[in-house]
Amino acid sequence: MYENEDPAPARYDLLVVGSANADLVIGVDRRPAPGETVLGTDLVVHPGGKGANQAVAAGRLGARTALLARVGDDAHGRLLLESQRAAGVDTGGVLVGGAPTGVALITVDPSGDNSIVVSPGANGRLTPADIRAAAPLFDAARVVSVQLEIPLDTVAETARVLAPGTRLVLNPSPPAPLPEDVLTACDPLVLNEHEARYLLGILGETAGSAPEDWARALLTHGPRSVVVTLGGEGALVADSRGDGAPVRVPSPKVDAVDTTGAGDAFTAALAWRLGLGDELAEAAAFAVRVGAAAVTRQGAQASFPTAEEVVAL
Ligand code: ATP
Repeated sequence: MYENEDPAPARYDLLVVGSANADLVIGVDRRPAPGETVLGTDLVVHPGGKGANQAVAAGRLGARTALLARVGDDAHGRLLLESQRAAGVDTGGVLVGGAPTGVALITVDPSGDNSIVVSPGANGRLTPADIRAAAPLFDAARVVSVQLEIPLDTVAETARVLAPGTRLVLNPSPPAPLPEDVLTACDPLVLNEHEARYLLGILGETAGSAPEDWARALLTHGPRSVVVTLGGEGALVADSRGDGAPVRVPSPKVDAVDTTGAGDAFTAALAWRLGLGDELAEAAAFAVRVGAAAVTRQGAQASFPTAEEVVAL
């Protein structure tokens, strides 16, 4: 090794630790009442789950991305692996077997209202031991991103095994109480309005109605930085390394047709750019463009843009 060579060059811009689900979607005229059977459209199966979505979003942007997840040894698992590979994601860390692939059973009525039943399946079997066994992946990543569709003790282990200098981006979705050591490891904690209100309630905060207040209050509980996503309004960032003052990052105005997966696209883009050395507000300015591009198209993974499409927006 030469003296000026980086002793451990990062092989991945982003390691995503999280869920992978098959979304099974059926359109219905009316969602069934208890005990009722209704007929629906042909079944459509989409790759989904927050972890899988984030990895595909990052891969499509051109980030060197790896996914650490668990799927079943079944057709849904193979569909998920295929969508990752098509986006250029390294799937060497995806564990196969132990339970069926996670599934979301979704019925959608003509007004767009849906009913969803999630079977976590293999996602629920991604264990702290699986995280420890993946040490080489963690050592090779600049940024690690995690959400809460996997067991909370697995999330906590993820925060524990980070190599020094590796950044943890955490999206607390679906919202759940976070242990203190997880909260303090977040840099940033990325959450939408609903998740922010939930976490503040759990933390005993009675912050006001402005996202600026939420970000300030959340910062006092340990995360080094906080990002609140605000839908079509963009996002708000607050970084304890500066003066902690919240800064708004507006979104480009677009015609939104489907916001499914927008939060995942935003978070993946943010995490990638932070790993490349962007300041928080700079990374968020890129991420709102990615989120905006994603809402102009139908679907979750199918809607995620390439870097060229983001520039063209
Ligand atoms: P979802 O659950 O729909 O994936 P979310 O509720 O986690 O998203 P949002 O705050 O709704 O998070 O959206 C995340 C990001 O996506 C926003 O910060 C913004 O960049 C982009 N976005 C969402 N909705 C719109 C919109 N109508 N117009 C432009 N950008 C949008």
